[in-house]
Amino acid sequence: MAVSVGLVAQLIEKIAPKSWAEEWDNVGLLVGSGSQTIERILITLDGTMEVVEEAKEFGAQLIVAHHPIIFRPLKNLRTDNAAAQVPLRLLQHEIGYYAAHTNLDQSIVSSSRVLGELIGLEKMEPLERVYDINPSRDSEERGYGVSGYLTRPQPLGTLWKSFLDKLKQSGVYSQPYELTGVRLAGSLEKEVKKVAIVNGSGARFVPKALFKGADLLITGDVDHHAVLDALEGGMAVGDLGHFLTEAPMLKATYDYLTEEKALQGIEIRVSSVNRSPWL
Ligand SMILES: [Zn+2]
Repeated sequence: MAVSVGLVAQLIEKIAPKSWAEEWDNVGLLVGSGSQTIERILITLDGTMEVVEEAKEFGAQLIVAHHPIIFRPLKNLRTDNAAAQVPLRLLQHEIGYYAAHTNLDQSIVSSSRVLGELIGLEKMEPLERVYDINPSRDSEERGYGVSGYLTRPQPLGTLWKSFLDKLKQSGVYSQPYELTGVRLAGSLEKEVKKVAIVNGSGARFVPKALFKGADLLITGDVDHHAVLDALEGGMAVGDLGHFLTEAPMLKATYDYLTEEKALQGIEIRVSSVNRSPWL
C-alpha cells in the first residue's frame, strides 16, 4: 500500500488550507516531491536531525511537522551551514518534509481546542478571530487560541492541579512526556471562571485575553514583562512551555490521518525523540 505525498498534503489542507497561514510563515511541502510515493509517515513538532534519523530508521518517506525547517531563504547548501543540515540530510535519505504551522493552529486539530476540551470549557470560541475575505456560508469560525467558561468557578490552585493531572492521564499526548518547565503565576485562591488558551508562544495574546475578561491564560513562552502585565490586569498565567502546549496537536493530527480511508494501510507514527528541550 502506497500513496503520494500530494495526497497526504491534500488531506491536511482539507482541514488546514495553506491560504490560512500567515504571510511570514512557510508552510506546505518544503522538501521532496508531491509525486513521491510513501508507505510510512512520521509526525513531529520540530524537524531536528534526531527526528530525521528516527524517520530513516522507521522507514518513513515523509515527515509531517508543525514547525517549518526553512524560514529565511537558504543562501547555500554547504554541509557546514547548520540551517542547511536538516534539508540536506532529508534529501540524502529521500525523505519529504511537509509543514502545517499557523494554518494548523486555526484548524479543528489545534492544541488550544484540545486543551480547552480537556479542561472542560463551555461556549468555546477563538480568542483571536480570523475572518475570511470571501466566507462561504458554511465556513466555520476560526482563529488563534480559544476562550471559554468553566462549568463552575474554581480556585486557581485546585484547577491547575487537576489540569496537570488530566494532562498526564487523559491521552492528549501520544508519548508519556515529563511535565517539565511548567510555571504558574497568580494567587492560588483566585476564582477562575473564564479561561483563555493559546498553543505555542502566547505572550502577545495577553492583552487580548485581558480584553476578553479571562481569569487565566494558559500558553507557552511567556516572558517576564508579559506575565507582569497579565497580573496587573488581574489575570493569572499558566505557562506549560512551547512543546507541551503544542504536542496535543501531534496526537490530534495522528488521529485525523489514521481515520482517513485513503490512508488505510499507511503506517503513521508520532515521533518519540521529539521532546521539550528543557530539562
Ligand atoms: Zn510552535
